[in-house]
Amino acid sequence: MTERIYLERHILQGNNEYAGQNRERLQQSGVLTLNLLSSPGAGKTTLLENLIATIKNDVELAVIEGDVATTIDSERIAAHGVPAYQINTHGACHLDARMIGQVLEQIELDGLDLLIIENVGNLVCPADFDLGEDLRIVLLSTTEGVDKVMKYPVVFRRADAVVLTKVDLLPYVPFDLETFKADVHALNPDVPIFPVAALQEQGTKEWIEWLVSKIARQ
Ligand code: MG
Ligand code: ZN
Repeated sequence: MTERIYLERHILQGNNEYAGQNRERLQQSGVLTLNLLSSPGAGKTTLLENLIATIKNDVELAVIEGDVATTIDSERIAAHGVPAYQINTHGACHLDARMIGQVLEQIELDGLDLLIIENVGNLVCPADFDLGEDLRIVLLSTTEGVDKVMKYPVVFRRADAVVLTKVDLLPYVPFDLETFKADVHALNPDVPIFPVAALQEQGTKEWIEWLVSKIARQ
C-alpha cells in the first residue's frame, strides 16, 4: 500500500513538470488553453461545435480530442474546418501533460488564439492531471443528477467555469437548479455557472461572451 501511494505521487510530480513546460510554451505564444472535463455524454463535443460555429470567423482555434478508442469527436470538429488533433489513450481514462506536449510539437502555435482540449469523459482522475491549461471548464448535464456535484467534488472545486448542459430537459428530469448552484458554490464560491442547451442555442451567448473576454485578456 505504501508503495502504491509513492507511485501515484511520482506520476503526478512527473505530470506537473510536463504541464509546466506546456503552459510556458502556450503562454509564450499567447494562446488561451481550455481543458474541458465531464463524464461521458454530458455534451462536451456538442458545446464545442456550437462554440466553433459562433466564433470561428473571429478567433483562430485548434482542438485536441482525447478519446479512449475512436476519432468520432475529432471528425465532428474537423467538419467545421477547424484543425483537430486526436489522442487515443488506448484504455487510459484521462489525458496527461506528456501526451499534450507531444501534440503541441505538431501544432503551429504562433497566430493561434485558443486551444481547446476535450478530455476523456470521466469526472474522477482527469481532475488530478494538470495539462498546462489556463482554464478548466467542467460540464454536468441535467440528466446526470444534481448529486454528482457532491459525489465528485474535486473536479468542481478546481473549475474556472461550470456549464450545466441539456437545460431544455429540466421540465422532464428530477434536477433542482437552485440546489445545483448552491452545491457548486459551496465547493467553489466564485465560479461562474452557465446553464445551456447547446443544440437549441439556449444560454450559449453568455458562456461564449465570458470565454471571448478571457481570450481578449490573453
Ligand atoms: Mg466528446
Ligand atoms: Zn484516469
